[in-house]
Amino acid sequence: VAPADYIRAHIRTVPDWPAPGVMFRDITTLLANPRVFRVLIDQFVHRYFDARPAAIAGLDARGFIIGSVVAYELGIGFVPIRKKGKLPFATFEETYELEYGSATVEVHTDAVKPGERVVLIDDLIATGGTMLAGHKLLQRLGAEVVEVAAIVDLPELGGSARLKAAGVPVFSLVSFE
Ligand code: 5GP
Repeated sequence: VAPADYIRAHIRTVPDWPAPGVMFRDITTLLANPRVFRVLIDQFVHRYFDARPAAIAGLDARGFIIGSVVAYELGIGFVPIRKKGKLPFATFEETYELEYGSATVEVHTDAVKPGERVVLIDDLIATGGTMLAGHKLLQRLGAEVVEVAAIVDLPELGGSARLKAAGVPVFSLVSFE
């Protein structure tokens, strides 16, 4: 069985969470299975092995789980992009719109050196707002974003198309229509 199909088969779908009509793609079932977790991480490690980025950036909070392990395995640093109010040093911040209200993410101003090549990882792309905000922060640091990567893409929500339209290279392992 192909790795992507193996990974896909281990994602749990929770209907009507966090709101009626939403099909939440739950990746905790991937993480709990050591064989699937290894296959998942290896997909990203193999993809970026030759590209030799300087760092992996991960989005709060599920992007931390995947991104930090990929960074460790590649022998490179990990940069957390956090929800507002958690980082102690000087930060850049980016605010973006959610279905209800808005969210703000932050990164330390010295997290990446100008010109460094970085891969941005999160668990899932829905509207793309979170990835786009993370990408903007990395650009403000002067990073060269190799691509943004997720386990899951939900193409019907338009996020990956929106990112590509903004000139951002996008990679995902699995998509759910
Ligand atoms: P977006 O900003 O693309 O609309 O939403 C993506 C963000 O919301 C990601 O950080 C992701 O963790 C979270 N998210 C939204 N929907 C889901 C879902 O169905 N499953 C998971 N695991 N995360 C989701």
